Amino acid sequence: RQIDKAGGSYTFYDAEMNRSISGRMYLESGLRRALQREEFFLLYQPKLDVRSGKVLGAEALIRWAHPQDGIIAPNEFIPVAEETNLILQIDAWVLDAACAQAKIWQSAGVQAFRIAVNVSAREFTVSLPERIEQALSKHQISSGWLELEITESMLMQNADDVVAIMSQITALGVTLALDDFGTGFSSLSYLKRFPIDTLKIDRSFIQGIPDDADDCAIASAIIGLAKQMKHKVIAEGVENSEQFAFLQKMGCDEIQGYLFSRPLDAEKFSEVMLRSFSFPSFY
Ligand code: C2E
Ligand code: MG
Ligand code: MG
Ligand code: MG
Repeated sequence: RQIDKAGGSYTFYDAEMNRSISGRMYLESGLRRALQREEFFLLYQPKLDVRSGKVLGAEALIRWAHPQDGIIAPNEFIPVAEETNLILQIDAWVLDAACAQAKIWQSAGVQAFRIAVNVSAREFTVSLPERIEQALSKHQISSGWLELEITESMLMQNADDVVAIMSQITALGVTLALDDFGTGFSSLSYLKRFPIDTLKIDRSFIQGIPDDADDCAIASAIIGLAKQMKHKVIAEGVENSEQFAFLQKMGCDEIQGYLFSRPLDAEKFSEVMLRSFSFPSFY
């Protein structure tokens, strides 16, 4: 029986492994089909001004409407897409779709609004500024409408190249936010070298506020650092009013999180935006 059991569990492990390998292939071929058939769509999560409560913009977040498996979240397919070149096509689709939506809102009279797009490290190459410029001119939106969210891992590539690419992007009028700030491995000295507009405090540091003294210290320190360096600072993953009150007290500029809104589809977002976005939970 013992041997059976061991054999059984070994077989089980083997099957698990196979599942993950075939699972990966299933995902990869699925992603190729998804690109051809446009199975992706974007959700938009509002970013609010802490002082006025106004919606200043939205982060575009990709979803995959899988014909059999339902809606798939990015954490399940972006890593696989990043191991292949599919991420380049996916991020190109996202940039195009976000600019198309920006055009719709711009034409509807929305002003002083910015859509943030997440950029994968793989996409951060010398051709990015030109691709952004093309997307902006294709959809005829002003560059102030677009923000890129990049991560610290991108800053660890050849520093001179990265500075040059970033400078070309900001010269277009597109702003750069450093996403998941505090979770990467780079040294803080990059803050001096790179033309970054906004620091985005990672959700993991917001979670423990107000009870976790370390989270409070880290969030306050990041806000202080951003202020001193004349960067804007935004907190992501704000889920309750205690967190919001703390961030407000510390002088955080903007916030994003379930407390105000989950990511919404464009239609729903437009509805709320046209009602001028008043959140009962805000004050
Ligand atoms: P991220 O850029 O840090 O995005 C924030 C994530 O936190 C989003 O998850 C969002 O839905 C979630 N979130 C927002 N507020 C709250 C909150 O109050 N509580 C909690 N628990 N979560 C909250 P999502 O949409 O699943 O995206 C996950 C990650 O996938 C993103 O992290 C980003 O790194 C990546 N991603 C999303 N869209 C794209 C894309 O178009 N291109 C690329 N390359 N990556 C993307
Ligand atoms: Mg992001
Ligand atoms: Mg983030
Ligand atoms: Mg994050």
